[in-house]
Amino acid sequence: MAKRVKVDCRKYPSEKGCTITISGSVDEVVELGWLHAKVHHAHKDEEEKGLKDWIRSNAEAAND
Ligand SMILES: [Zn+2]
Repeated sequence: MAKRVKVDCRKYPSEKGCTITISGSVDEVVELGWLHAKVHHAHKDEEEKGLKDWIRSNAEAAND
């Protein structure tokens, strides 16, 4: 079974107090995390590269 990683929005203070956790393969989490950041946290298209790199390096191992 492929290993999952996760990013937990609760750990990153935001104006919305978001409680979303995204988990899946690293590539899935990077892609969905980026879309989530864009749609829910109003990140701009030009931040895509930096934000995806940030997600990739901040994703934690998920135990499920
Ligand atoms: Zn969020």
